[in-house]
Amino acid sequence: MKPNSRRVFLRNTSISSLVLLANPLKSCSSKIENKIVSETYKPLILSTWAHGIPANDKAWDVLSKTDNILDAVEQGVRVTESDPDNLSVGLQGLPDRDGIVTLDASIMIGDGSCGSVSFVRQIKHPISLARQVMEKTPHVMLSGEGARLFAIAQGFPLEEEKLSPKAEKAYREWLVQSAYKPIINIENHDTIGMIGIGKDGKLAGACTTSGLAYKMHGRVGDSPIIGAGLYVDDEVGAATATGLGESVIRICGSFLVVELMRQGRSPQEACEEAVRRLTVKNASQIADMQVGFLAINKEGEFGAYAVHPGFNFAMHHSEAKVLKDAKSKFSDNG
Ligand code: ASP
Repeated sequence: MKPNSRRVFLRNTSISSLVLLANPLKSCSSKIENKIVSETYKPLILSTWAHGIPANDKAWDVLSKTDNILDAVEQGVRVTESDPDNLSVGLQGLPDRDGIVTLDASIMIGDGSCGSVSFVRQIKHPISLARQVMEKTPHVMLSGEGARLFAIAQGFPLEEEKLSPKAEKAYREWLVQSAYKPIINIENHDTIGMIGIGKDGKLAGACTTSGLAYKMHGRVGDSPIIGAGLYVDDEVGAATATGLGESVIRICGSFLVVELMRQGRSPQEACEEAVRRLTVKNASQIADMQVGFLAINKEGEFGAYAVHPGFNFAMHHSEAKVLKDAKSKFSDNG
């Protein structure tokens, strides 16, 4: 898939736009023997990609008014799900190879409560449906037609199954070759994964996507799989992933990042070790695939790391909101 103009825009804007916030509260830096070891912030919201900036704005607003980190992450990623220009999240995203948009989403809080939906059609806000699964059923995941029927029962409106103008154009172009290459490289993936910590230390995360463009009908990625695309534990921290879902599922990526933090790694070290393991387990594909991880620990320290350059993330805390480039295992020239 060719780089689209939005991604070119993302790359151009990834020279970190820093916006200092008015009336900043003091952030705390953790100190050990008078040595500053890391930046820590509470509250803190992190999201994958530049579309995380408006999503974080909404999450921050909700968090400021309610102190509810679960509401904040849900409302935050709903902004991305509603963005008519977004080709990788929500019903305006790129379809599968049969021309049908199917969505995956998950939500989790630090006490272990979680919910997800996968392979769901016609629902504008799958993240809110995932929350309903968490709160209104004894289950963790509903899929496909069952998820859609549950949505109807919960009063969610069904949207018309019609590709957005941008998705329709891109799909028609793809149909010319119809090349089935289920690969996510550094140009064509953009799930929003958002993780956050409130000032009370409670953590939550939300992850939502239209998944891999032109995937097989029925394909489900990492985003709705608890422990793959998202994992949250108030005892330790939270992590989320973006990129080639199959490779993330193979290493239980977000769970791995949280478990590495539990064993004493910093969020940055944990993301780096997860990428290292992922590159070993997916060695034959590694040149043409991308994955990025984001993590927060319960102190409010953060980390981010990707397989290749190009992954950026939006960070919002009491002093600033900023788009940052993540470091990566491989450099630009491989
Ligand atoms: N992780 C998503 C998936 O594999 C894709 C993405 O990050 O855009 O479905």
